[in-house]
Amino acid sequence: MVRLRSSLRLYPSGLPRLTLSRHTRLALLLVLATAILEVFLHTQNWAVRQPDHELDEPFYTSCQEPAIEQPREKAAMVMLVRNQELMKALKTIQSIEKHFNQWYHYPIVFLNDEPFTEEFISVMNTTVSGEARFELVPKKDWLFPEWMDVTDAKAAIKAQGQAGILYAGLETYHHMCRFYSGKFYTLEALKAYKWYWRIEPDVNFYCSITYDPFVEMTKHDKVYGFTIALPEEPRTCPSLFRKMADYKESNNILTTELWKATVAASWMPWPLRSFMSWFGHRDRFGDGWSLCHYWSNFEIANLDFFRGKEYQRLFEYLDKTGGFYYERWGDAAVHSLALHMLLPSHKVHHFEDFGYRHDWFYQCPANAPDGQLLHSKLLPIGPFYPEREGGIGCRCECDGSRTRNFPAYCTDKLKKPNTARRLSMVEFVCSWFS
Ligand code: GDP
Ligand code: MN
Repeated sequence: MVRLRSSLRLYPSGLPRLTLSRHTRLALLLVLATAILEVFLHTQNWAVRQPDHELDEPFYTSCQEPAIEQPREKAAMVMLVRNQELMKALKTIQSIEKHFNQWYHYPIVFLNDEPFTEEFISVMNTTVSGEARFELVPKKDWLFPEWMDVTDAKAAIKAQGQAGILYAGLETYHHMCRFYSGKFYTLEALKAYKWYWRIEPDVNFYCSITYDPFVEMTKHDKVYGFTIALPEEPRTCPSLFRKMADYKESNNILTTELWKATVAASWMPWPLRSFMSWFGHRDRFGDGWSLCHYWSNFEIANLDFFRGKEYQRLFEYLDKTGGFYYERWGDAAVHSLALHMLLPSHKVHHFEDFGYRHDWFYQCPANAPDGQLLHSKLLPIGPFYPEREGGIGCRCECDGSRTRNFPAYCTDKLKKPNTARRLSMVEFVCSWFS
C-alpha cells in the first residue's frame, strides 16, 4: 500500500513549499495516467465505426434523360409562405420548375396560417406546371398548445427578443418552428402523400435535376435527404439536446452511429465529466452535441416516418417541455436530432449533386466531365459552367470551384473514404503489437 506523505516547508521568500515523497509523486502520476486513459477510452467509445463501403453514394453523377414516362411517387412539393412573400416565392417556383418540375409536374402545396390572396393564387396558378394547391393551416396546429400559460410564454418570448436571440422575439417564428417540427406531418392536406419536398421563398436551384428524387429515395430505402448541414445557433436551444438525450435514455433507445456522429464526447475526466451537464447542449453524463444539423428549408423526406408513432411520440414529449416557446427550438435541429436518434446511417441521403442556395448558404457541385448530355432535347440550353474533374452536377449555372460554403457536415465521419478515419480501440491495441 502506498502511503501518501508530504510536508510543508518554507521557500527562502517565506512562502510555503509543498514537498512530496517519491511514493506520493508516483501515486499522483498513476492517478493522472488513469485519468488520461479513461478519457481516451471514453472518447473511443463515441468514435464512429467506419463502414466497409460507402453508405450514401449520389443517386446519379451526371445528367440523365428525364424519365417522363416513369410512374410518379405519391409526393408533393410543399411551401409554407406568407402573402407578402409572393415575389420571393415566385422566384423559388420558377427555379424549381426550370430545373426539375417542368419534366415531372409534381403538385405544389402552398400552406399559410392566413388565407391566400387572389393575387398569390393567380400568380402561382400561372407559374406551376402541375397542380397548385392552397391550404390554410388549422389554428390548433399554429397557436400555443392549450395547456400552456400564454402570458408566461409571451413574456419568455419577449425576454428572448430582448436578449438578441435570432428571431426569438417573434411569436410567429415560434409557432412556425413548432408547426414544422410536428404538426405539419399530420395535416389533412398531406394525407394523400408519402413524400414531401420542402421549399421556401428565396431559393435558387442551380443545376438540372434530371432524375426523380422521390423514386430514387424509395429505391434506395432512404428516409431523409438534405443539401446543407451547419451548426445551430447555440442560444436558441440550450436544453434541446439534453431533453432529447434524456428521452433516448428513458426509452432505452440504442445508440446509433448517427447519434454518435452528433455527439462531441467530453474530454473532462470521469468524476468531473458529469458536472459538464450543468452547461447547455450536454447530456446527463456531460457529453455534448456538436450543434450540427441539417438545414430544413430544403428537405426531401418520407412523411410516414414523421407522422409515425415513434416520431410523433417524441415530438409530443418535446412539445410538453415547452421548449418551442420558453426557448426557440428550430425544426431543423429537432428533425436532425430525432433522425440521428432513430435511424441507421444509410437512411439519410446527402443530395450533393444539387446546386442550392438559400440566404447566404449554398452548395454547388462542379459539372460532371462528359456527363452533360449535350444532345438531349429536353434539358435547358442556357449557359452553364465548364465541366471539372470530380464534378457530379448536371448543367449547373454556378461555379463549382467551391462546392459549398460549409465544407463539412456532421455525417462526414460515416463516409468510407480514408478521410476522418478513426481507429477502434481493438484496432488501436492490435496496431501496438503488430
Ligand atoms: P429562416 O429560414 O429560419 O430564416 O425562416 P423564414 O423566415 O425563412 O421562415 C421559414 C419558412 O416559414 C418560410 O417558408 C416562411 O415563408 C415561413 N413562415 C415563417 N413565418 C411565417 C408566418 O408567420 N406565416 C406563414 N404563413 N409562413 C411563415
Ligand atoms: Mn428561410
